[in-house]
Amino acid sequence: MQVEKGSLSIHSENIFPIIKKWLYSDHDIFIRELVSNATDAITKLKKLKSLGEADYPEGTAFSVQVVLDEEAKTLKFIDNGIGMTGEEVKKYINQIAFSGAEDFLSKYKEGSGEDQIIGHFGLGFYSAFMVADKVEIQTLSFQEGAAPVHWVCEGGTEFSMADGDRTGRGTEITLHLGEDGKDFLTEWSVRKTLEKYCSFMPVEIYLTSIRAEKEKEERRVKAAAEKAEQAAKEDAGAEAVEPEIQEMEPVDIPKAINDTKPLYLKKPSECTDEEYRAFYHKTFVDFKEPLFWIHLNMDYPFNLKGILYFPKLGNQFDTLEGQIKLYNSQVFIADNIKEVIPEFLLLLKGVVDCPDLPLNVSRSFLQNDGFVQKISSHISKKVADKLNSLYKTDKENYGKFWDDINPFIKFGCLKDEKFYEKVKDIILYKDIYGKYLTLPEYLEENREKHADKVFFTSDEQQQSQYIKMFKEHDMDAVLLPHAIDQPFISHMEMKEEKVKFSRIDTDLTDLMKDVDESTAEALKESQEVLEKLFRAALGKEQLTVQVENLKSDKTSAIVILPEESRRMQEMGAMYGF
Ligand code: ADP
Ligand code: MG
Repeated sequence: MQVEKGSLSIHSENIFPIIKKWLYSDHDIFIRELVSNATDAITKLKKLKSLGEADYPEGTAFSVQVVLDEEAKTLKFIDNGIGMTGEEVKKYINQIAFSGAEDFLSKYKEGSGEDQIIGHFGLGFYSAFMVADKVEIQTLSFQEGAAPVHWVCEGGTEFSMADGDRTGRGTEITLHLGEDGKDFLTEWSVRKTLEKYCSFMPVEIYLTSIRAEKEKEERRVKAAAEKAEQAAKEDAGAEAVEPEIQEMEPVDIPKAINDTKPLYLKKPSECTDEEYRAFYHKTFVDFKEPLFWIHLNMDYPFNLKGILYFPKLGNQFDTLEGQIKLYNSQVFIADNIKEVIPEFLLLLKGVVDCPDLPLNVSRSFLQNDGFVQKISSHISKKVADKLNSLYKTDKENYGKFWDDINPFIKFGCLKDEKFYEKVKDIILYKDIYGKYLTLPEYLEENREKHADKVFFTSDEQQQSQYIKMFKEHDMDAVLLPHAIDQPFISHMEMKEEKVKFSRIDTDLTDLMKDVDESTAEALKESQEVLEKLFRAALGKEQLTVQVENLKSDKTSAIVILPEESRRMQEMGAMYGF
């Protein structure tokens, strides 16, 4: 058979519904894509000016205007960027997946890497059809002599192109929102989405609601009319009442949705503690103060910027729930992406911006490749480094933070071997006297009393009798009350083979026992009586009961269950046997 070669052709009729339905997992992403394009258009124009290929007056204010008309059911994205010629519309818009951003980048690759172009795949624009029945473009290129273009497409594969009526440089995209877009017909939902995706985008973004503007205007007209009426009445009365109070009209300065220069992009040496705190409150809407933070700032071997905050836990029962927002060149991608951020770090709150991230088209899922792994382990290393330096330079504060950060660190130890190796010497144990000790310190202090054993309490209240008794005997135990502590103990026993953890109500040391000869006889009697009693009460003939005399004269009697049996019981309860 003859070999036949050719190239696959794609029919847009088939691909279109796929783009509409499947390419983007989240409906609201069209806002991110259209604002990104508008931002890119401005970035490109600035870039061309810096190369002497475009010009605009000094002091030109660049912005992206998002205008919602609730009645007309339209949402517009207007920019005063580079604009498009008719040729460019044909090339970049009519050809799906032909990215002008890629084109631009390859053309102007060299030069400063500072201005990041967001687009990559040449599909973002079409996300508009996820919500719109009809999309219009009115655009005018910056190029001299360019004619404005009007492009319309009703969601099928047909479009029309004609002379446009835009007079100023830039592009206006109008979405006629359909049934799928009705969620975006309120100012509130558009604002929320802009805040979600565009909070740190590099060009100012403004949102206008036509309805809100109309209402404002109506109120203004009404107030003016009332004022005039009042003045007329006063004139008629001809009595000057009180001296006229000059009423200041509230000045209505539009406020940009976004922060074009987010703190994390600044050099750490140029940021103040107040700025870090303010950034935290605003970004995470958390009004508790963060404990401390780590500012990630690197250009090599990859570009990564961000701030990780250690949040304050309310109490030990608070669930650990962090939020790491991932950005790509100041555009929000998604929260808590496990591929990039080590899982245990998701308990922190932070922002991470990595322009070099390899993203697939939907940008919501990251390819799980070696590069991403490197980023992840780098972040984990930075966190370990910061904890170590805090321990070394500011032990007092480190101790203070310990109660809040220990579940996080322990979780990290369980999840990430490298992290464990890095922080194992700075894991603290708080004891029943309120002191913070490392494991070697605890073991050393108690070597005489009970070598290689760590006594702990998991519930200070429930085990208060035992704690009291420990204190009476000048013994020490550490507090391990968190849910993470049980797996953490097992982990430590595995790592430090000699060390055994025993709960405070599971063991007696000889120091607590009264082994006087004179009481031996009485002890034997008690042994018989109590053994019978316990066996009968629990209905277990084989039960091992051991009775000891306590040295303490304050504690009359306690029951203990060996550590192993305790763990078995707890496991049984957990798995239901
Ligand atoms: P991408 O942004 O990944 O290149 P898009 O589908 O989002 O792909 O956009 C396709 C192309 O259309 C862009 O690369 C750009 O050349 C052009 N374009 C889209 N929106 C605008 C705009 N507001 N101003 C100028 N050009 C635009
Ligand atoms: Mg784009």
